[in-house]
Amino acid sequence: MSRFMSQRFASLDEYVPGEQPLDMQYVKLNTNESPFPPSPLVYMRMGDEISKLKLYPDPNYSALRKSAAKLFKVKPENIICVNGSDEVLSFAFMAFCDSGKGVAFPSISYGFYDVFANLYGIKAKKIPLREDFSICADDYCDIGCNVVIANPNAPTGILLSVEEIEKIIKSNPDSVVVIDEAYVDFGGKSCIPLVEKYDNLLVTRTFSKSHSLAGGRIGFGIASEGLISDLNKIRNSTNPYNINRLSVTAAIAAIEDNEYYVKNCRSIVEIRGDASRRLKELGFELTESFANFLFAKSPEISGEELYLELKKSGVLVRHFNNPVINDYNRITVGSAEQMQILLDVIVRILNDKRSIKNQKGI
Ligand SMILES: *Cc1c(COP(=O)(O)O)cnc(C)c1O
Repeated sequence: MSRFMSQRFASLDEYVPGEQPLDMQYVKLNTNESPFPPSPLVYMRMGDEISKLKLYPDPNYSALRKSAAKLFKVKPENIICVNGSDEVLSFAFMAFCDSGKGVAFPSISYGFYDVFANLYGIKAKKIPLREDFSICADDYCDIGCNVVIANPNAPTGILLSVEEIEKIIKSNPDSVVVIDEAYVDFGGKSCIPLVEKYDNLLVTRTFSKSHSLAGGRIGFGIASEGLISDLNKIRNSTNPYNINRLSVTAAIAAIEDNEYYVKNCRSIVEIRGDASRRLKELGFELTESFANFLFAKSPEISGEELYLELKKSGVLVRHFNNPVINDYNRITVGSAEQMQILLDVIVRILNDKRSIKNQKGI
């Protein structure tokens, strides 16, 4: 750190994204990207857009908002377009979480919530999960501060019902409830239909996981017109041209060919079921995941050791150094071929461990 860094930020704990190592080609199952390429329509539309890069994008993203409105079945006025959904989460923490009032979120969830709370000096209530890692909706009812919940939750993949979320929204009419639906396309049910009914609900979506555009950085906030205009106030005060032209064009093309992604998500759900069954046969315990990842632990090997052994063999998964979930790894559901490699390597690691144990036993 330089001597110029503001005191306010000097002690900040940064968000640490999953590794993106360049030292070798890994089977990359650590950051929940899609194994499928973008739709052919995205490739086709890129060419024409390049010549327009000399011009700023439309700061209202009218065309993209119109397409997204059809996809999400809301009005364009209910949508803000952002540079990855992390950006709208950042805007929401800035816009709605006054330092005194604070924000509540599960103690095990997306790591960025805590980072934003610290960045903006917001008091954070971190609410433990139940023993089985599920979220108890009652913990958030009448809580009297803003609420952020990922549904399905990360890294557990566990889903709350829309009915339970509605209870939370309804019982906190003077606070904003943010539902982060980064993984909802993999079998969850969206809360977007509730936006019409509740002016305190903000739903966030991303094209990073389900729509093969993690590198394009495309996200959305869906909420009442009032919340959207507040978020736009923050956006226009920080970076009104927050999304680049190529990504906007890619996102519009992706929405036009949405069926392609629906099919891909269906494949992921199938591969998830298959991989989950096979991990259970190998003795793993798993949560019931509604996301494009599995959350798994083995009684035979620690979470950290499995992560390190997999990495040595060229397979990357995500391990979290949090004592509550230390035993687990989060494994992105990749292609069937990638999952086959993962399972083969796991079998080899477990067999090696068993034979060492047996030798010691003799
Ligand atoms: C990946 C992820 C995001 C952020 O995605 P972007 O790439 O910024 O759109 C937000 N919330 C959760 C829970 C995620 O896993």
